[in-house]
Amino acid sequence: MNVLIVEDEDRIAAFVERGLKAEGFTVQRAADGPTGLALASQDEVDLVILDLMLPGLSGEQVLERLRGKRPDVPVIVLTAKDAIEDRVRNLNAGADDYLTKPFSFAELLARVHARLRSREQATSTVLEVGDVELDVRSRTARIDDRDVSLTAREFALLETFLRHPGQVLSQVQLMDRVWGYDFEPGSNVVEVYVGYLRRKLRADVIETVRGAGYRFRD
Ligand code: CA
Repeated sequence: MNVLIVEDEDRIAAFVERGLKAEGFTVQRAADGPTGLALASQDEVDLVILDLMLPGLSGEQVLERLRGKRPDVPVIVLTAKDAIEDRVRNLNAGADDYLTKPFSFAELLARVHARLRSREQATSTVLEVGDVELDVRSRTARIDDRDVSLTAREFALLETFLRHPGQVLSQVQLMDRVWGYDFEPGSNVVEVYVGYLRRKLRADVIETVRGAGYRFRD
């Protein structure tokens, strides 16, 4: 799957690119409106992540012109504006979804998967590893046939683990995926949330790998 990121802020573009590449996507980047429009117009681009404040052409102008050429390509808009009118206007102009900055990688990834899924009409929305099941559409978790209620962060953390079963994920990777690029270095928030998941699910589902990070047992 080819994803195009149209974003002039290098820090955010690099953060999104790194995360998507780790998920196996092919990523292209454009740092201004005209380049973004030219690349997005090519058929091999499967999904576009589009910032609104861009040099050359605004995100709204890119979106409007792109819809004239490719009405069906999924577009997720990134916006620093959270006014409801902007959201409605963007959706009317043909955006499929939007994210308000700052956002975490897990939130973005969930939307990317949802957009590609609804395009492909795929049916499975359940991630299952061992005794743990997570329905990413209804946002519910189950273990040993018991329903578990999770907060948004716990859900995002569990989803990240379930997408990488058996793999050691470092504190920094988890921070990056679940808390986004605005986290405080040296924070123990990952440890705290792993503790919450162990309590709600079962202590042995997440293993601590000393000096390396955490692993979800598969
Ligand atoms: Ca921008």
